[in-house]
This record gives sequence, structure tokens and C-alpha cells, in this order.
Amino acid sequence: MAEYYGNYISGRYVAPRRAAWFESVNPADREERLGLFVDSGVQEVAEAVSSIAGVAARWASTPGTERAAMLQKALIALGERKEELARVMTREQGKPLQESMNEIGKSIGEAQFMLGEGYRLNGYTAMSEKPGTWAQTVRVPVGPVAAITPWNFPVLTPMRKLMPALVTGNTAVLKPSEYTPLTGLKLVEILNSAGLPGGVLNAVTGGRSTGEALVKHHAIQAITFTGSTAAGRSIYKLAAERLVRVQAEMGGKNPAVVWDPPSMDEAVKHIVSAAFLCSGQRCTAISRVIVRRAEAAELERALVAALAELRPGNGLAAGVTLGPLTSEAQLTKVSGFVQRAVREGARLALGGAPLLEGEYAKGFFFPATLLADVTEEMEIAREEVFGPVLTLQPVDTFEEALAVANHVEYGLTAAIFTKDLSIAGRFVDGIQTGMVHVNHGTAPESHMPFGGVKASGVGPGSVGPTTKDFFTDIKTVYLKHT
Ligand code: NAD
Repeated sequence: MAEYYGNYISGRYVAPRRAAWFESVNPADREERLGLFVDSGVQEVAEAVSSIAGVAARWASTPGTERAAMLQKALIALGERKEELARVMTREQGKPLQESMNEIGKSIGEAQFMLGEGYRLNGYTAMSEKPGTWAQTVRVPVGPVAAITPWNFPVLTPMRKLMPALVTGNTAVLKPSEYTPLTGLKLVEILNSAGLPGGVLNAVTGGRSTGEALVKHHAIQAITFTGSTAAGRSIYKLAAERLVRVQAEMGGKNPAVVWDPPSMDEAVKHIVSAAFLCSGQRCTAISRVIVRRAEAAELERALVAALAELRPGNGLAAGVTLGPLTSEAQLTKVSGFVQRAVREGARLALGGAPLLEGEYAKGFFFPATLLADVTEEMEIAREEVFGPVLTLQPVDTFEEALAVANHVEYGLTAAIFTKDLSIAGRFVDGIQTGMVHVNHGTAPESHMPFGGVKASGVGPGSVGPTTKDFFTDIKTVYLKHT
């Protein structure tokens, strides 16, 4: 019997008044149900928001250093229950257990930096135009925050939103993805278990309509969203009607350019990891490799050899390095992209169709796939696939490589592998992305701004020092003392 979970409000699970439920299943074995969750409507959302709004003033007036100390205890609790939560994540999202453990470890690392912001909520003092007067700025919390998150990083993405929101003095409601509700609820339960005041951090479950109800709620003053560009656009429009701010981190079509690399083996290692961790379901996944034509054949051979080593399977089994896709819809979507690419003339170098034999038939498995001879006008060269699919696109000049890299709607992250300093510099200057890596995959660090441009991002980047600009307002104070 699957367990029923209410929303997490004011420090406890709350049974809903009405019975609209949805279930979450293990993508490696669809027979395994993780639980039944509330498909929250306007009423459930109002209950969660009124709880965070009720304690907002008290939390805002608690000194930042005290908030940081309380949140530090929450982080310790998360560290202590890391493996328990990682197992829930792997059963619900699908990624190999070690990846789930690493994700929680990284969340804690990013949060450590962020909690220091409790000590750095600085304004500045300026010379006043008037005598006997101080002119200064102070930072104040923006107000109750809604955090709406996707299913691919069900701990890291919520943590990137909740920790900065809370430490800067805001209370928050998390709405995790409808595909990973249990991981989201458990995260919020664990963070609360270390003594956060009740109502500072709540969670409601549900899908799009639950997210919309949150965005529309009059008490919500800021929406931090991660997910698809389509949903980001829709949230931005809704929020504009109430003039509340949105931080949106959205899709990507991240290129890696290989141009006379210092080491082909190293480049392949970085590309494979950046492209296939989380089965390619990462906003920062490298999804297209643009390669100097002279190096294309060597790179293709090396990639095929490396990808053949990846082992698909249930993320809880030892030795598995490629988990399932998170949902049947995602499996259908990824298969469709590959079929259309082949029809448009791409050459299948490896993989290409869902795994349906034996144990794989229980879940949503797709093998590591490499499409070669891809050209700029193909759909696969432009659209986000969000699966274990990499494309190889040969070009003749560096100018062409840069133009191809930029010729997409997205602008999240990019990498170049080259030993030519001038090529590296021109790439860094010319690439239209929020992040760029030279001789390194697209893995970001825990204290640096994270975000995209173009259709990949709106608002200050999360992670690192920029994020407090989203969660605080600047108040200018003139104090005439004489
Ligand atoms: P999604 O947009 O379908 O859903 C994301 C969240 O938004 C979910 O909680 C969903 O219930 C909610 N939602 C959907 N439509 C909504 C609406 N109109 N109003 C309010 N809430 C709404 O995305 P997904 O399929 O869960 O995740 C995959 C996408 O997320 C990919 O495009 C990926 O690139 C992107 N992503 C981006 C980043 C980043 O930092 N840039 C990180 C991870 C994932």
C-alpha cells in the first residue's frame, strides 16, 4: 500500500480537506509506488502561504547571523540524513545513488557559502548633500517567496532557492516537481527538524496549477523558478500582472567546442561527464559538440569508446552509471528527437532507441546515444533534448564554430577545449552564455554566480553573491542627526 503524504505546513504534515491525489513512481521500476501526494488547489496553497506570511515579520527581524546559525543546524541535519534522502532521490528521480549523494553534498557546499551571507547583508554609507546628515542604504527582505522547482535535481535546486531566501530574511514555500514530490517533502521535513520556527519553510505538492496558484497569491512577493522556458515565460507573465519579481532559470542547449585540445582524452572525459550525468537531464548538460573537421573522426571514435562503458540500470544497483529517464513522457520525447534527427540526415553512431529487454522493460531506460554529421538546420542542433543524447557537428573555421554555438535560443553555459590561447579568449569574449569553461566540462562551482542569458535565464544568477540581489530590496536612508 502506498503511503499518503499531506503538505508540509508549520512544522508538520497536514491532511488535506479534499481528496485529490497523484502518485509518484520509481522510474527504474514503474510498479514501485513511492506514495500519494496532494494535488494542491487554491485552498491548500492559501493555507501554506498564510502560514509563511504569518511569521514573515518575525523572521525578517531576526538578525541575519541568528538566521544563519539556525540554518546551519538544518544543514547539519541534512548531512546526517544524507544517505536516507539520497536513497529516496534515487528511487524517485532515477539517478545512480552516488550521484544523489554528490548532489546533496554539493547542496550543502553551496549552502555553506550562502549562510555566510547572513553576515554580509551590507549596504553602504555615502556622503550626504546636506550637513549633519548620513546617507546610507540597507538591505531588507523582499517578502514571502515561492520556490518552484523541476525534477532533475530535486535537492540541489530547492536548496539553491531556499537557503538564500531564508538567510536573507524571507519565509518560503517550496513546490517541488510533481515527478519528485517525496524528495521535496523529505528535504523540507529534514530542514525543519533542526528547530526552524514553524511556518518559516513550508512545502506544497502538485503540478502546474499548484504552481500557478502560488504565483497568483497576493502575499507572495518573489518567485524563484527553475524549469522549462515555456513555464518560465508563463510565470513571468502572471507575475508581471502583480508586479512581483521573478528569478527564472530555464533550458539550455550547451555547446562544447573541440579545437586542437591540449589532450583529446581529457576533453572526452569532461564532455562525457558533463553530457551524461543524470542521464543528460541537466540544464547545464553539454548536448552538442562542435568540432574542427580535422579532429572529428578521432573525437567520434573516442566518444563511442567512452560511451560504450556507461552502464544503464537501476540507480540503487552497484556499478550503474546511467539511470533511467525520470518519466515515460521524457522517454517518448527523447526517442522522438532521435528518430527525427535520423530522418533529417544525422548518422547514428551509438544507441538510439529505448531499452526494452529484460529488467529494462520495467522502467524508462534510454542508452547513451551519439548522433554524428549533425548540421545547423536540424531540430536536434537547436532544441533542448534533456536526455542521454550528444550530437557531433563538424565545422571548418573557428568563426563558424562560434556562430553555430551562438545560433540557438538558449544561453546557459558553454565549454571550449583548446590549447590555443587566442581561440580560447575569442570564445570567452564571443559566446552568448551566462557561464563559460575553458578546458573544463560545464560543472559550476559552489560560490560563483550561476545563471543564463537569452531564453535560459532572467534575474540575478543563483548561487554565490549575486543571489542576495534577488531576495532583498535596497532601502535608502537619510538620517539628519544635527
Ligand atoms: P517544467 O517547466 O515542466 O516544470 C518545472 C516546475 O514548474 C514544476 O514544479 C512544475 O510543476 C511547475 N510548472 C510548470 N508549468 C508551470 C506554470 N505555468 N506555472 C507555474 N508552475 C509551473 O520543467 P521540468 O520538466 O520539471 O524540468 C526540465 C526543465 O528544467 C528543462 O528545460 C531544464 O533545462 C530546466 N532546468 C533548468 C535549470 C537551470 O538552472 N537553468 C536547472 C534544472 C532544470
